[in-house]
Amino acid sequence: MRSTPLHPVARLPEEWSASLAARGERSFTAKQVFHWIHRRGVLDPAAMTNLPARLREHLAAEGLGEVVTPERVHRSEDGTRKLLLRLRDGATIETVLLPSVSGPGSQAQLDADAAAADEEDDDEAEVGAAPRTRVTQCISTQVGCAMGCSFCASGVAGLKRHLGPEEIAGQVLLGRAMLDEGEELRNVVYMGMGEPLHNYEATARSLRLLTHPEGIHLSTRRVTVSTSGLVPEIARLGADFGGQIALAISLHASDDATRSALMPINRKYPLDELLAALRAYPLPRRRRITIEYTLVAGQNDDPAEARRLAKLLRGIPVKINLIPMNPIEASTLGPPGADRVAAFQAVLTQAGYSCFVRRRRGDDVSAACGQLVLLGARPKVRRALG
Ligand code: SAH
Ligand code: SF4
Repeated sequence: MRSTPLHPVARLPEEWSASLAARGERSFTAKQVFHWIHRRGVLDPAAMTNLPARLREHLAAEGLGEVVTPERVHRSEDGTRKLLLRLRDGATIETVLLPSVSGPGSQAQLDADAAAADEEDDDEAEVGAAPRTRVTQCISTQVGCAMGCSFCASGVAGLKRHLGPEEIAGQVLLGRAMLDEGEELRNVVYMGMGEPLHNYEATARSLRLLTHPEGIHLSTRRVTVSTSGLVPEIARLGADFGGQIALAISLHASDDATRSALMPINRKYPLDELLAALRAYPLPRRRRITIEYTLVAGQNDDPAEARRLAKLLRGIPVKINLIPMNPIEASTLGPPGADRVAAFQAVLTQAGYSCFVRRRRGDDVSAACGQLVLLGARPKVRRALG
């Protein structure tokens, strides 16, 4: 049971139907309201010109309005934009827009986490249509994170609060509105600040909002939820969405001792339980789970780890993304050298896995993975953003 009423941006069309019918509104207004919010991205009731004035007033009284406000936009030289967003209570989060570096179908896109979906989509591309730049948006689900991974800025910051579904979906409504000419929002990855499955209800609702045919209508396979491995919620996500939502697992180690040292959550859900959850995920045919492996020098980058990883993942349909750790201020941990990364990758490739090293994107604006920090808590970063 929710203690607070559902924010208007968080309501699905059927919920609008129920609440508006109770007010004596005609049935099609529910769809109109949802269209304004989720198809057109208009959150100001005064601008919903085809609605009767009394309904617009009612929506305003219910609190319909902007849920996330862009405070700063930082553009990296590689085209990546980091948006610093302010929430209604003053807390800040970040979302990142990552345009594909080259044209559709290029190998360079393989660092985008929903690239597999894009590969399939190339077959569906309209003949003669002008090529558009595909954008992947990375979104946050919490202010901070409770999981405490040692290499991650959000983890070091700790959890401030969960985001509401309206704030999670609101990031995408805003991100879409801020696209450049010729860009198209293609993929959404839940890889910003926070652990999406620790905020399961809000995450699940945001997925329903973003994939709803009457709204933004993202394809489920182009939406990726990344998790540090909350086993019961992985099963729940699989059951609730029939395995349609793309899954990424932050693995980062191939034995429990190493993993627990990097990721405290491993003490609660050790590797054998996590791998069992992956095997049980109702993955559709031809789809794969993304394994994220952040390489931390001296911690998990030994070729022996790669060999163990190859064994561990045997039989699970996966693709592996190696991410050399982005240094964070709060830790002395760092990435291994390029040859060490290449050696790790070679073991996995030779074992038959599809394994890519993710290039860092947006490093110059701290938009790379794990660098989405709590601004208020980090004055040094505030200056960098200034
Ligand atoms: N909490 C979720 C999603 C957000 S983190 C999760 O952990 O999966 C998104 C990805 O960025 C994770 O794979 C995480 O391990 C990785 N990451 C975090 N900090 C990083 C850093 N400093 N360098 C490289 N990758 C990092
Ligand atoms: Fe949280 Fe993910 Fe960072 Fe771990 S890596 S602290 S789960 S955001």
